[in-house]
Amino acid sequence: GRAVHLVSRPQGEPVPEHFRIVDEPVAEPADGELLVRNRYISVDPYMRGRMNDVESYVPPFALNRPMEGAALGEVAASRADGVAEGNLVLHNRGWREYATIPAAEARVLDPDLVPSVTAYLGIAGMTGLTAWVGLFDVARMAPGETVFVSGAAGAVGSAVGQMAKLRGAGRVIGSAGSRAKVEYVRDDLGFDAAFDYHDGPVAERLAELAPEGVDVYFDNVGGEHLEAALHNMRKHGRMALCGMISQYNATEPAPGPRDMFQTIARRVMMQGFLVGDHMKRMPAFLEDVGTWLADGSIRADETFADGIENAADAFLAMMRGENTGKMIVRL
Ligand code: NDP
Repeated sequence: GRAVHLVSRPQGEPVPEHFRIVDEPVAEPADGELLVRNRYISVDPYMRGRMNDVESYVPPFALNRPMEGAALGEVAASRADGVAEGNLVLHNRGWREYATIPAAEARVLDPDLVPSVTAYLGIAGMTGLTAWVGLFDVARMAPGETVFVSGAAGAVGSAVGQMAKLRGAGRVIGSAGSRAKVEYVRDDLGFDAAFDYHDGPVAERLAELAPEGVDVYFDNVGGEHLEAALHNMRKHGRMALCGMISQYNATEPAPGPRDMFQTIARRVMMQGFLVGDHMKRMPAFLEDVGTWLADGSIRADETFADGIENAADAFLAMMRGENTGKMIVRL
């Protein structure tokens, strides 16, 4: 089976030459193990951080080894109790066609609980949980409030805006990187307003669209967006700092908001969070998202690439904003 290796560490923007497709022997499962044929693999922004040789909340990818990440596969052979051939499993050995893994590292999923199994990599998985936890537990959004979310046409951002509306937000504003994405979040996802962050200073566009200010900012982007949001926060506003994708390819740490006194003047709370710390909220989240998916009140678009040979390009395309909703590689 083929796998994608990281063969050198990018400085700045990664390019296809940092990755290589390698044919690897498929190991027979030992006792307690499964052989999984991967069907869908996830490419995610946090993987950019793992390409750097720095210790963070996840270890760096090893060079000349298959990268890791969420994957959905079908059990091709099982030597573990409770897991049968044909079962759908979620696990973390993505970026390869076949994975031989301890059964304890795989979660058997029910394909009938979701509109499409790929939801487990997106809206009904870590993506959806990130949106839900960040918005409701971290930022404590209350009905009637004004919410601003950056990366609004992406996997997490598109879920945030819709969940905010579903829980009674007064006004939801999104920013995204193209005219088509702006129309998508406003017309298809039901955001109240949206803007393209290339169309002038973010602070000005936000002030026009949220004249009364913002109660909750869900940050996927960092940099200018974070500073702009701070200057538009209402008193006692809350910011859930989820991601800073505008800085993931930076070679030097970028400066933060210049006028941090605004946090004091406006009594703003900023809280960074990692979804992995909130796994105990999964059941409550699944109850909400299950209802919304079943009654059609939430929409989760996906962008697909096909074939392991296109997985690295899919990652690079996602980093450049070529995806709408969750980026997934279909094998
Ligand atoms: P997305 O589906 O949102 O894809 C990434 C998007 O980022 C692109 O589509 C692009 O959209 C946007 N982008 C890229 N470069 C820039 C830039 N310079 N400025 C503004 N936008 C940019 O990915 P996810 O939904 O998976 O992730 C969204 C964010 O959430 C990321 O920051 C990620 O790291 C974070 N995250 C954090 C988690 C946590 O536990 N804290 C868990 C999961 C995700 P556009 O065309 O609009 O530019």
